[in-house]
Amino acid sequence: MKGYAMLKIGASGWIEKERPQCGPMDAICRPLAVAICTSDVHTLWEGAIGERHNMILGHECCAEVVEVGTLVKDFKPGDRVLVPAITPDWNSLEAQAGYSMHSGGMLAGWKFSNFKDGVFSEYFHVNDADGNLAILPSNISTVDACMLSDMVPTGFHGVELADVQFGDTVLVIGIGPVGLMSVAGTALRGASRIIAVGTRKNCVEAAKLYGATEFVSYKNGTIEEQVLEMTDGKGVDKVVIAGGGCETFESAVKCLKPGGKIGNVNYLGSGTYVTLPRVEWGVGMGHKQINGGLMPGGRLRMEKLGALVAAGKLDVHPLASHVFDGWEHLEEALFMMRDKPADLIKPVVKI
Ligand code: NDP
Ligand code: ZN
Repeated sequence: MKGYAMLKIGASGWIEKERPQCGPMDAICRPLAVAICTSDVHTLWEGAIGERHNMILGHECCAEVVEVGTLVKDFKPGDRVLVPAITPDWNSLEAQAGYSMHSGGMLAGWKFSNFKDGVFSEYFHVNDADGNLAILPSNISTVDACMLSDMVPTGFHGVELADVQFGDTVLVIGIGPVGLMSVAGTALRGASRIIAVGTRKNCVEAAKLYGATEFVSYKNGTIEEQVLEMTDGKGVDKVVIAGGGCETFESAVKCLKPGGKIGNVNYLGSGTYVTLPRVEWGVGMGHKQINGGLMPGGRLRMEKLGALVAAGKLDVHPLASHVFDGWEHLEEALFMMRDKPADLIKPVVKI
């Protein structure tokens, strides 16, 4: 079979590989549509998870099941499925402890294009099919379904990590597709003010649609100066971080009220340390919590978030700004995600 692979850090291309084997609890699927993620860019061009040779890229797709193992109960060949980017081993001790995303080791629930071949391939392998796949609701298009792999669950996980409550004033740093879903999740959780940080025009327009009430550009001075001025020096209750670099945490801590919480879902692709401002962190005693996490993955979350979209309570369609037809456009879509043209939110390739 053909797959589009990371050949080594900085180099990619189509390669031939054996079709993966299906274990008793597994499924083999073929993508119906795939989406490119900023994480693919961190992995391939920044080497953020280290060297990988001939590893097929991609972790966002919806798919058709082509084969299932003998122990799989709820899925059969021909089923059209939502596929989460994170596919934990649900019987692991880490999953039993509530950290499915770290099943088998830190971040090891993230298997596609990390520990095994990803979904930019004619066929791909899904571990624990009953625990990880979900039936694609019939009124969700294959393009929109790709947003449920990672953008919706990751953006929403940032909101969970920040513990957004009714009436909160929330700062969302970064309004790419992940941050846009954090804005949407923050609005669904009942925030009163949502201050969004980002500059790309389409993203700003989409953020308004999803509920952002005010905007800050990180290009017009520091985020903290602007946010403190907008909040009469008081700061915000919660911060979701979905963009920027290591330095963003310093701004977030400075923007936060005592007792506030930061939920980070940004993948820090470079830099060595994250530093905290001592004084604004309450000289260590400000009760300002920092929670950073990979989204949990798995079937239940896919089913619930799929139900939210199917019920018309969350419109993910505006995220898919560039839709291509056919594998031959995959490379163009990937390079587009690296170069981030001004009108880009998310590139999707229909197969
Ligand atoms: P994008 O690159 O599309 O968006 C990044 C956003 O951050 C943009 O709004 C950008 O603004 C803004 N930004 C850039 N620089 C700064 C800065 N210095 N300060 C503040 N804001 C800044 O990324 P995605 O939405 O696709 O992904 C966001 C992050 O989430 C990525 O790092 C990705 O790898 C990660 N991720 C994490 C996952 C997880 O499970 N934890 C899963 C999937 C993704 P502008 O409008 O100017 O471009
Ligand atoms: Zn992703």
